[in-house]
Order: sequence, then C-alpha cells, then structure tokens
Amino acid sequence: MANAASALRVNAIELLRSPGSVREVAVTVPAEAVGVDDARVSGEVVVALTATSSVDGIVVHGTVSTPWHGQCRRCLRDVDGVAVGQVEEIYQVDPRLEDAVAIVGDQIDLAPVVREYVLLELPEAPLCRDDCAGICPQCGADRNESPCDCDNTVTDLRWSALEGLRLDDPAD
Ligand SMILES: [Zn+2]
Ligand SMILES: [Zn+2]
Repeated sequence: MANAASALRVNAIELLRSPGSVREVAVTVPAEAVGVDDARVSGEVVVALTATSSVDGIVVHGTVSTPWHGQCRRCLRDVDGVAVGQVEEIYQVDPRLEDAVAIVGDQIDLAPVVREYVLLELPEAPLCRDDCAGICPQCGADRNESPCDCDNTVTDLRWSALEGLRLDDPAD
C-alpha cells in the first residue's frame, strides 16, 4: 500500500524547474490505495497519467479506469463494465486559474484526483443494455426472455418518468 501511495506522487519541484519536462505515471493500484471503498469496484485501478510542466504550472492528463460490477436497474441481471475517467487537471504553486489545484509542499499527490474520477465514472444505475425490457411488475417475467401479455401501460409510464429524472446516467 505504501508503494501504491508513493507511485502516485509526483515531484513538483523537479518538474517546475524545467518547463516542458514530462513525467509518466503508469501504475495499477488497489482501489483502497486511493481511498475508494465502493462495492461496485470489482478490480484494481489502472492509472495512466502524464504530468507536463510549463511556466504556468503542471498539467496532469490521461485516464484512470477500473472494472465495476453491478445489477441492471431494470432486470436485475449482473452487469460488468469498465469505468474510464478522462483526467485533465492543472496544478499551480499559487493558483491563479479558477480550476487549478494548489501545489502544497514539494509533491503532487495524485491519489485524490484518481479517487474523484473513479467515483465520478461508476454507474449509479446501470443497464444490461440500453433497450433492456426489464421485469414485468405484474407477473415477474423477464421481458427480455419471455414477453408477457400483461398490460403495463401505467407502470411503464411511471418508470420512464422516473428514469427521465436520471439525466446524466454515466452508464448510458
Ligand atoms: Zn437488464
Ligand atoms: Zn407480465
């Protein structure tokens, strides 16, 4: 765990000393190492980031990804996927840009950023497929496999109204 933590630290002083220099952070760490304690995460976190220094600070970009496991919100079938976060952050000693993260001390600790992007990309309510027909609320049949003759017009309307509220479901 100590190794995972140190692998996610970048020496900021060194980078800032020579603008244009690049440091690759390519490491696979356990989710707990970046403070992600989430039942949806089903494997390790793959970190592929590049820190590039400029006269203006250090830009960190790349991806963080992790496999997840869940259940389809409509039919409850097991669903697996990979959450991929596109990281783009700027670090400055004395943040002038609105979104800049302050560099405190000699190092940049990427663990909080990795954690943030992983959590952001985990699906709240996954679907096994976009057009999953779900389980019939009346007879309990899995309508993907055995369409039934129940009249679910009212229930379906209610469900689609509910699902309409989940506007930015990352799983879609
Ligand atoms: Zn489903
Ligand atoms: Zn039915």
